[in-house]
Amino acid sequence: MNIEALQTRHPSSGEDAAPRVVSCRKFYDRESLMAYDPESEDWQKQLARRYDTHFEIAQVLNNVEDVPMSTYETFDMKVTPYLAQLMDRDDPNCPIRLQYLPSMKESLSVRMEHTLADELGEAEHTVPGTSVVHRYPRRVLFLVTTQCASFCRYCTRSRIVSHSGERAIGRADLDASMAYIAGNKEIEDVLLSGGDPLVFTDRKLDELLGRIRSEAPHVRFLRIGSRLPVQLPTRITPELCAVIEKHDVQMVNIHINHSKEITPLLRSRIRMLRRTGTMLGNQSVLLKGINDDVQVLRDLFMDCVSMGVRPYYLYQNDQTLQGAHFTVPLSRMLELYEGVRGWISGPAVPTFVIDGLGGLGKMPVIPTYVEEREGHIECRNYKQERVRMDYLRDGAKI
Ligand code: SF4
Repeated sequence: MNIEALQTRHPSSGEDAAPRVVSCRKFYDRESLMAYDPESEDWQKQLARRYDTHFEIAQVLNNVEDVPMSTYETFDMKVTPYLAQLMDRDDPNCPIRLQYLPSMKESLSVRMEHTLADELGEAEHTVPGTSVVHRYPRRVLFLVTTQCASFCRYCTRSRIVSHSGERAIGRADLDASMAYIAGNKEIEDVLLSGGDPLVFTDRKLDELLGRIRSEAPHVRFLRIGSRLPVQLPTRITPELCAVIEKHDVQMVNIHINHSKEITPLLRSRIRMLRRTGTMLGNQSVLLKGINDDVQVLRDLFMDCVSMGVRPYYLYQNDQTLQGAHFTVPLSRMLELYEGVRGWISGPAVPTFVIDGLGGLGKMPVIPTYVEEREGHIECRNYKQERVRMDYLRDGAKI
């Protein structure tokens, strides 16, 4: 099955690893929402308490933008109660609200000429009959589910995530994907993504990781990309950590876009995850009105390293059907880089990247610091101080 097939599957044929449905009451008054302790109950129960529409969340937040119900035809809304607690009650420009609540700007995105359902050309690079995207040599992206704890409005994979059950990735897809990975000995790096692989139960994740390790011993680097720690930190449990450690998952990349998402609860669960010995990275998306600000990025990256998470990539936002209005111009991206590099610790600075249209791959965005001009090599630092280093020229006598 390829991604196009994922997009057209009938709900009844789906057997996605959607979170187990548990019947739980949602919080429709602010007092009960704020009194709720996310550590007091199982993470799956919290999924059942998610807000599904702007009408629902308007019961606990003020100034929620009214959008037509047709908005949800393009992309569902899901917000965990934990995230709702973090949202500013009154400010519609709260960086967490902007990431998760639908906006009228989305209908403008849908009409823009350059927006695409599959900007990165993943469907084209999906191995037929599987949910494996094989674009680069020696490494693959393994989409294991179409489900997430909450849906980010700018999601690059919005064409397959959301709409529970309609675009399921089932056992047959996982089996075919496993057969492909097992049969291609040159694959040495597998990134589990989706959707969010941590919506799997511990048992299901244990089984899948175990299959990769036993059926594809040539895989040297096993990674998981997940936003669940940020949307529902209590998903990180000792049992989950045991599974990650058991299968030697070498890297878990989380996804934080603003320091407001870094709470004491997240910090404590990240500490738990670090004890597994896995590397922790953070991938952020550059989003207009949310984090396109030098101080916001400096704080975000330093807050990440302070909890032992290495900023890995800062992505330019993709031109998805509903999220193009978040895009920051390239010139501003370069200014932001200049405002970060040199001004905060080196290991806190991620690679700024643009993902090439149609599947060209990731390209770093870096201002020029070293130039060859009129036969001289001219270097400048982050404070615009300059020095000539002509001994670096071709043929220079050293
Ligand atoms: S968690 Fe990831 S896959 Fe899910 S909606 Fe957000 S960006 Fe998309």
